[in-house]
Amino acid sequence: MPKVTINGQVYEAAKGKTIIQVADDIGVQIPRYCYHPDIGIEGSCRMCLVEVKSAPKLLPACATPVTENMDVRTDTQRVHEAVRYAMEFLLLHHPIDCPVCDQSGECWLQDYYMAHAGHDSRYPLGQKTRRRKAFNLGPLVKLDQERCILCTRCVRFTRHVTKTNEIQVFNRAHNSEIGIFEDRPLNNPYSGNVVDVCPVGALTSADFRFKARVWFLKGTDSVCAGCSTGCNLRIDHTARAAGGGIPGYTATDGKIYRTVGRRNVEVNKSWLCDEGRLSFHTLERWPRLRQASVRGKQQPVSALLPVIHANFESVRSDHGDDAVAALASATNTNEGLFLMKKYFKGRLDFRLGREVEQYQQQQDELLRRYDKHPNTHGALDLGLAGGLGGLRRLRDLAEKKEVRGMWISFHPQLVGEDAPEIIEDLKRLIEALEWSVVCTTHDFGWAHEADFLLPMAAWAEEKGTYTNYAGRVQIANRAVMPAGDAEPLHVLMAELLNLSGVEVPTDPAAIFEWIASEVPGYGGLDYDAIGPSGAAVAPVPEEVLR
Ligand code: SF4
Ligand code: SF4
Repeated sequence: MPKVTINGQVYEAAKGKTIIQVADDIGVQIPRYCYHPDIGIEGSCRMCLVEVKSAPKLLPACATPVTENMDVRTDTQRVHEAVRYAMEFLLLHHPIDCPVCDQSGECWLQDYYMAHAGHDSRYPLGQKTRRRKAFNLGPLVKLDQERCILCTRCVRFTRHVTKTNEIQVFNRAHNSEIGIFEDRPLNNPYSGNVVDVCPVGALTSADFRFKARVWFLKGTDSVCAGCSTGCNLRIDHTARAAGGGIPGYTATDGKIYRTVGRRNVEVNKSWLCDEGRLSFHTLERWPRLRQASVRGKQQPVSALLPVIHANFESVRSDHGDDAVAALASATNTNEGLFLMKKYFKGRLDFRLGREVEQYQQQQDELLRRYDKHPNTHGALDLGLAGGLGGLRRLRDLAEKKEVRGMWISFHPQLVGEDAPEIIEDLKRLIEALEWSVVCTTHDFGWAHEADFLLPMAAWAEEKGTYTNYAGRVQIANRAVMPAGDAEPLHVLMAELLNLSGVEVPTDPAAIFEWIASEVPGYGGLDYDAIGPSGAAVAPVPEEVLR
């Protein structure tokens, strides 16, 4: 552990780290464009130059490893001047079109200009080099060559991370520019990450650009629910505000505009796949179920829950406890599933198809997994793969009248390619039951065949934990309000348990405490201590998977 002094303070640094990495660890700001912790070192932008005692010249902090007793200064006049000159060079041919640039408000050129440069251009605007504006690199990404500062982050992303090499630097010297080959568009499954890594407005998202100014958006840290990897992301959305929201925009009750990767080296580094990045659109792909109903007649949720509870009790007293069962969904949080297990006395299953055999299988070498459920591991940990055998077996039990009343939780957007078969099984299941409750996020025709229909909060509308394929418990936060009268599953289950005489909290942290006290592998975990990178639980025993 070499001892290094930065701006007069002595720190212990891990051996092999560079000055910029140590500075990041201790919270000392060093400007940078080309350096990115998950793409590697380029050393070309010259923004991170620092003064090192006894070194004759300024050194790039991104490419200089710390050594014993190194004395570094990031705040001297020499350093400030070097950064100012680097900025002047980078802005020489920049169009300075901030008012019409979609990156405005989160552009590193703007930030560093205000912090370190503040100079007037010595180059007349009319003589600046003109380059191609806003053309497609692929379905998700647009490039404005005039704004590019040639940091090569995008080039190195496609070279080192996806290994697809679509983006290249073409030409030499002053004529250098970023681009793609004509017959090779940027259409790899992770293409949106180049927008995240581009520090300026050169690469913008075709999905997000000009939809909202970033300073009107609120960022909520959460976890992607698109597959069992559970990548960390930030949801950018309008905040629910009485009479507030974005001037000129209609959504005032919370609308998601985009998601961006959030760094967690244990799970996804800084990356998201495009499918996961855009998966928030599935919330609006079909009409949302906004109100509860009983046989087609709308009712408040609070009025229906006592009736639903009374019906389950009546079936139990007439036909025994086994006549009531539930179908859960591995898209629900651990808290919702745990309370569901309590209410249905262990008579539930969550398996729709092949998710259990697929949940650890990778779809590619980077992040994506075949299992499109975020919480299959959690459902297994909670013991939801019991003797009921999944959807098909439950359907058989209903047809044999061994199960008569059932709760069916369903997240339609995540069943993937098996959806038509699953919907067919669900229809047959509902038809075979004496009475049924479907609790779902979207308004599907087939769900109206159930006696009771309850709207359920979807991903980004509820708070709770998912356990990813590797057994990492992570917190997904609520970013926007649920549609209509929808409630998170754990709230609905807490109310049913309360009706049955069991006092249950609705706070996810309190429910998680209960989980930690009962579920093997979760002992000792504390909701408040899970933190931004999650906490590991023990692997699922092999016999549970069989
Ligand atoms: S397009 Fe963006 S990420 Fe790529 S080199 Fe230019 S500034 Fe860097
Ligand atoms: S790999 Fe899975 S969890 Fe990660 S962003 Fe894609 S869909 Fe979401």
